[in-house]
Amino acid sequence: MTPAIDAPHPAMHVDLEYRSLVDQEQLESNSNFNIRIFTDGSKFEGKVGAALSMWDGAAEIKALKLALPSYSTVYQAELLAICRATRELLKLKAHSYGIYSDSMAALQTVTNVRSLHPLAVETRENLQTATYQKKLVNLFWIKAHAGLEGNERADRLAKEAAVGSKRKHDYDLCPISFVKRSIRMRTLDEWNQRYQNANTAGITKLFFPDAVAAHKIIKKIKPTGITTQLMTGHGGFSEYLNRFGCKDNPSCICEPGALETIPHILLTCPVFASIRYNAEINLESKMDKDSLHKFMLGKNRDIFLEYCCKLVNKVVNRNKSV
Ligand SMILES: [Zn+2]
Repeated sequence: MTPAIDAPHPAMHVDLEYRSLVDQEQLESNSNFNIRIFTDGSKFEGKVGAALSMWDGAAEIKALKLALPSYSTVYQAELLAICRATRELLKLKAHSYGIYSDSMAALQTVTNVRSLHPLAVETRENLQTATYQKKLVNLFWIKAHAGLEGNERADRLAKEAAVGSKRKHDYDLCPISFVKRSIRMRTLDEWNQRYQNANTAGITKLFFPDAVAAHKIIKKIKPTGITTQLMTGHGGFSEYLNRFGCKDNPSCICEPGALETIPHILLTCPVFASIRYNAEINLESKMDKDSLHKFMLGKNRDIFLEYCCKLVNKVVNRNKSV
């Protein structure tokens, strides 16, 4: 962001607006300018480019391709193209100009005097200078991929700029979204390392060996009291209740000495042998300690969770009534 102190004084603000042109007809009735400049930004195969195509009547008089680093957003590329269009028109002699962009977001940023995005600030400065030069500049939004000739040309150039360019970047400030994402990835990595190296959360790790992957899966599951007890092992299970002095015996009802834990309930307890057998038929796979997490990933997650919750429910209720 441009520091507020470097932004133009509020008294210098010009009222800016853009108009939306939805079809060829509206474009044609708003094409009566000495020079028309079509701008576009593109992200293609992870590479980012921008371009402008300048027209005098039916002839293209100049085309510019601009390169951006791969961490840039299309939005930045679109803004850069508009900004360069305003810079280019300052060099020309013509009186009236139309600048066409298919990015509503970029046009909104440019016309919002409160936005301190450096490209928007420069664009507004250029437009201010243009008015001193007695130039008339109009901004337009046009629909992308609507077959408008100038827009198609700018689109093609922007893609070429994204893919082909090996030269120095025309703009390399990284977007805040990139910084946020980088910080988030680092935080997640750190969290995952602590999670994986810690001796705690043994039961949770059976379901989610990886904390980052877990985050994506958990978003899809509606948590209930039962799923929470299932995935943490903290709940109405004899081994857990015994550990906290709430039950004298940590064993399951099936056999003295067989600790009533989540792995026991889900994988070995003979009391649930027939339910387990049916579940394994539905899952088309045997369950064991090392495979539980795989059922959380795939299409069988619902069947698997239904099986687990059914058993947990039975055990928790059984222990309640003791
Ligand atoms: Zn048992």
